[in-house]
Amino acid sequence: MDMTATPDLSRAQAVPAGENSAGPASIIDSFVARNRAYAAAYRDGGMDARPVQHVAVVACMDARLDVHAALGLELGDCHVIRNAGGVVTDDTIRSLTVSQRALGTKSIALIHHTGCGLLSLTENFRVELEDEVGIRPSWALESFTDLDQDVRQSMARVRTSPFLLHREDIRGFVFDVHTGLLREVEPLEGTTGHS
Ligand code: ZN
Repeated sequence: MDMTATPDLSRAQAVPAGENSAGPASIIDSFVARNRAYAAAYRDGGMDARPVQHVAVVACMDARLDVHAALGLELGDCHVIRNAGGVVTDDTIRSLTVSQRALGTKSIALIHHTGCGLLSLTENFRVELEDEVGIRPSWALESFTDLDQDVRQSMARVRTSPFLLHREDIRGFVFDVHTGLLREVEPLEGTTGHS
């Protein structure tokens, strides 16, 4: 994700992608037509819902990170769980638990990235949000200032979750949006899952 440092919620009203006689066109209007072309070339590979590579990837929703391309994965290979920051929240644990217990994944890769929008946000975001809408969000913003530290925290959250079946193969990375390279982050001592 790449948001502005100051929450400007008026920007949530997207700029129209174009105009036509029926009014402003949305990018979403093009989805149906593009999907018809996609479906015309689509071949059912007969896969079931279990990821072929038995892996789940937790990554930031950042538009510059193409998880499958960056990791050499193909359709059907993995689960991809994405959110703002690629952070491990209760809902991430929910998805990972389903991934492991119902759909057979065993490995987990966590991916943050350089230039993440969450690096520039602070808890002021929530305060300003509450001031504007009058409601305090129930969720934590999960912003961070140190990428490596947050990857380590995410690994620790996964490794200490009682709900997961497999915690032996959990690794964390920072993706460089300029070079396309992944850099591995070493876990916190004592939380490797091998002990
Ligand atoms: Zn991000």
